[in-house]
Amino acid sequence: MDEKEICPKCGAPLGEIIETQSGKKLQKCSTASPWDPKVKPTGCDYIKWFTPEPVTLDEKCPKCGSPLVLQVTRFGKKMKKCSTGGWDKEAKKATGCDYVEWIGGSSVPLDEKCPKCGESLVLFTTSAGKKMKKCSTSGWDKENRVATGCDYIQWLPS
Ligand SMILES: [Zn+2]
Ligand SMILES: [Zn+2]
Ligand SMILES: [Zn+2]
Repeated sequence: MDEKEICPKCGAPLGEIIETQSGKKLQKCSTASPWDPKVKPTGCDYIKWFTPEPVTLDEKCPKCGSPLVLQVTRFGKKMKKCSTGGWDKEAKKATGCDYVEWIGGSSVPLDEKCPKCGESLVLFTTSAGKKMKKCSTSGWDKENRVATGCDYIQWLPS
């Protein structure tokens, strides 16, 4: 990518791609002033957000049997949705299959070590809101449908 992209608002070239602390990527117009919360932004206020590419999953939609894709929203939420699902911008309505499954589980790294293997623990919250500490090396082998890594789990009273 040598060619600079042009701002659709003012025609100036777009600036560098910036990554926010939460891992989201955006590109601002090169005429925009550097961000300073104390001053009002000057220059062009065009911002181009990068939506992460959906990842095709090895799972089938329970509604129509098409492959599911994993999509991360701009707000960092994850969802599985049907690959045939779409959004008709002009008609402002959903097209294709409307299957969506939000992935509510989240994990936070902990400052504790696993009593089994000594690796660090993560605090895992399920979509049902239950909390557990589990080993950061644990995983799930989808092809063989077996748990991998260390199996240490400690459920926390809610
Ligand atoms: Zn601009
Ligand atoms: Zn579907
Ligand atoms: Zn462990």
